[in-house]
Amino acid sequence: MTCPHCNNPLSFITIDTVDGQTQTIDECLNCGGHFLPPFLANFLSVETAKNIDSVLPKSKTVPSVGPVCPKCGQSMSSIKDDAVPETVTVFTCPNNHGDFFPKGQLLSFKKAQQAKIYYHKLWGIPLKSAMAVIIPLVIVFSAISIMPSVIKQLGISQESRVKAGDILTPPLITPVSDTQVLISFSTKNQAITSIRFTEGLNQLFFASQTPQTNHLVSVDNLIPGTLYKYVIILNIKGKITTTEEYIFATP
Ligand SMILES: [Zn+2]
Ligand SMILES: [Zn+2]
Repeated sequence: MTCPHCNNPLSFITIDTVDGQTQTIDECLNCGGHFLPPFLANFLSVETAKNIDSVLPKSKTVPSVGPVCPKCGQSMSSIKDDAVPETVTVFTCPNNHGDFFPKGQLLSFKKAQQAKIYYHKLWGIPLKSAMAVIIPLVIVFSAISIMPSVIKQLGISQESRVKAGDILTPPLITPVSDTQVLISFSTKNQAITSIRFTEGLNQLFFASQTPQTNHLVSVDNLIPGTLYKYVIILNIKGKITTTEEYIFATP
């Protein structure tokens, strides 16, 4: 593959995610940019981002043309979203092949993301606004397998996964600490959604109280090293659907 920005060959580097997985990303030694699989940037520590962005590029000139996706050749657009500050530039592939961070931008994004998470924790700002820290995922409902393997989830039979895939994306678990996770997912149609725990907790959480397509719940006061099971309840125009059980474990 070649660099989205300067067209030089990309090289692989191996990195560790905050949930203990090993992933590969693409690095351009010429311009110092990085191409990451979708959503992966949300799972890197600031320290890892600092290491990644410490690459010394050969060239300092920034191309005037916008980047193109190294996988499909389509123009990548810069993400204009609450999650990405105006001072940070992140490009994303319209076909969800990944995100491109020009030199220095990954570290800037991670610093901004962490500052925002701390701010919300410190001020106890309600759940919804936490959506504002996660790089969004372009939703492609026809290809469930595009989801990165960064979610620790077990126990969903192939059959129910395909069925659920028609109405919602597999939920993504973003660990904030060993006692708090964010559970996020998207629905194909606007829905009112809630999450009911079936193991580990005995509680119902509202994800969306008005019909929408992006849903997020912050669950805290969890116990480290514990297995939790939950179902998602969707209300689409009055029709109630309950998914199969999903599972995650706290670190
Ligand atoms: Zn490059
Ligand atoms: Zn692409």
